[in-house]
Amino acid sequence: MPIFPELKARMFDKTVCRKCKARNPKTVKKCRKCGSDQLRSKKQGKK
Ligand SMILES: [Zn+2]
Repeated sequence: MPIFPELKARMFDKTVCRKCKARNPKTVKKCRKCGSDQLRSKKQGKK
């Protein structure tokens, strides 16, 4: 079964709020839940 790059890109196209850990689309600048702008990308390979 092939892995669709589009699907994979969509998976990473999310940000997680550092405050409430709500997931937001990457298109938003602020958390939709708590309004915080402390959003980090889910794509973080390094520790
Ligand atoms: Zn939040």
